[in-house]
Amino acid sequence: MNPELLRQYLEFYRDLGVKSVFKRAGVEMSLDAAGTSARATPVFEKPLELPSHEAIPIRPSIAPDGDSMALIRADIGDCTRCRLHKGRNKIVFGSGNEESPLVFVGEGPGADEDAQGLPFVGRAGQLLTQMIEGTAKKEGVPLLRSQVYICNVVKCRPPENRTPEPDEMEMCGQFLFRQLQTIRPKAICALGSTAAKALLGTKDGVMKLRGKWHRWNDIPVMVTYHPSYLLRPYNQNAKRESWEDLKKLLHYVYD
Ligand code: URA
Repeated sequence: MNPELLRQYLEFYRDLGVKSVFKRAGVEMSLDAAGTSARATPVFEKPLELPSHEAIPIRPSIAPDGDSMALIRADIGDCTRCRLHKGRNKIVFGSGNEESPLVFVGEGPGADEDAQGLPFVGRAGQLLTQMIEGTAKKEGVPLLRSQVYICNVVKCRPPENRTPEPDEMEMCGQFLFRQLQTIRPKAICALGSTAAKALLGTKDGVMKLRGKWHRWNDIPVMVTYHPSYLLRPYNQNAKRESWEDLKKLLHYVYD
């Protein structure tokens, strides 16, 4: 199996909440005592550890009085607080309407976002735009992507697009929380398990959390699949489900 396909399978199982898988090394052939018939015994190697998705209770942010998006950005500065700064080109703070009643929270920048300094501008971003604008249009809600606010749990690209580590999420989470507290939207949409974990501090996976209302600091949170997950060819059912989640979200915010 090629490494890309293997990576996709491992991500698929991780998204399902599976934390480790066993690599079957092969079968060990042995003969019975009489030496007349052979017996095949599967041999398993050590479990392969999947990237940890442990829930991390992120500390509440200490927002200064009169906090503003400009102040938060200034406090981030040319950040070197965690290891992610080493590989980044641009800090991806967020984009869109800072007074929007709706905020989308993703995981962290990818290569395109890192190059441009803007969230969700790559393939996943194009799908997110379609999801927001397509659902809004079908549901009769006049809404463009530029009218919502979009940001991420971590503001620097993790190497090889790996999942952010708990300490990175905790460090950067304080700025996300200040952004959310400053905007105080009517609802938040958590895209994928990293955003859900950062906001809800839960170990539950997206499949369990999606489609239902949760809360972050009294603000309703809708969890749905991350657009990158929906881009994988075997996740077409999830696409339909995320459409349902967005419908619920848009009607709650804009009706
Ligand atoms: N994935 C994310 O979680 N965020 C982005 O900004 C882009 C891709």
